[in-house]
Amino acid sequence: MSEEILRIEGLRVYFYTYAGVVKAIEGVDLSIRRGECFGLVGETGCGKSVTMRAVVRLIPPPGRIVSGKIYFEGVNVLELPESEIRKIRGRKIGFIVQEPMSALDPLYRVGYQAGEPLLVHKLIRDKKEMWRRVISLFKTVSIPEPAKRVRNYPHELSGGMKQRVVIATALSCNPDLIIADEPTTNVDVTIQAQILDLLRDLRNKYGTTLILVTHNLGIVAEMCDRVAVMYAGQIVELAKVHDIFKEPLHPYTKGLLEAVPVITKSREVRLKPIPGTIPNLINPPSGCRFHPRCAHAKAICMKERPPLTEVKPDHFAACWLYTKR
Ligand code: SF4
Repeated sequence: MSEEILRIEGLRVYFYTYAGVVKAIEGVDLSIRRGECFGLVGETGCGKSVTMRAVVRLIPPPGRIVSGKIYFEGVNVLELPESEIRKIRGRKIGFIVQEPMSALDPLYRVGYQAGEPLLVHKLIRDKKEMWRRVISLFKTVSIPEPAKRVRNYPHELSGGMKQRVVIATALSCNPDLIIADEPTTNVDVTIQAQILDLLRDLRNKYGTTLILVTHNLGIVAEMCDRVAVMYAGQIVELAKVHDIFKEPLHPYTKGLLEAVPVITKSREVRLKPIPGTIPNLINPPSGCRFHPRCAHAKAICMKERPPLTEVKPDHFAACWLYTKR
């Protein structure tokens, strides 16, 4: 088995709102292997992004990491002082955010923003070297006329170009792990294909570990080695991508795959939505959180949370259909 780069154990993240405590992440365990491309999928609001933000300790208030351990390269980042976690963010873990406009400061040139991590982590001698490195980074992420583009402000670039700047920023310190949170959500399909090609090339070239957070199963099939499916703040299935598409085990994963639109020969679009809606995480369902939407629910499903169990080699599911009490 490959070396582990990241391990999450028993992670709980709650948001303390006026309406009540939102139990956004409830006992997540994950292990990411060095050099792999790992997909984290699920519906909007299932906790994918919150889990990944917890890795770099960037949970926005009123959220709080309530319990758990997150080992990055063997060190529990939750026990590190803020000064030490800052040395990891950007330097060891690059984060590509979902919305490039919110990541880029409208008042600074994009070249400066992409080069700032190099300055912060003291990886360059002076600003002259920074500009040289940023121009080279812009070339790597296929930004045309990089020497000119580094001087642009965010509003002067298209959505696809802004996303490339964000990717260049995440790559600037040559991190060991890149977390890409819905990197193609706000771009059209042509740019989406280019960005995915770019991430694939970078991974092949530098052997960087990549965690891809997405709700798009097509992207997972195309890019990832293994995938975890999240539902209502918990991991419900984890397996190699091929195994999950060939033989999904958890009723929610099966529902997700059936909900992918299929265009028939008569040009009809067919899809089968999952009945019901995602639960309110202030008062989540007891037992298995999927039970109100599950056609296979039985008495125990309403009472006890099913553990994530290895049903087949390297294929785990959290479902009472596969686990004996
Ligand atoms: Fe359905 Fe029960 Fe399995 Fe949950 S544990 S997915 S309710 S069968």
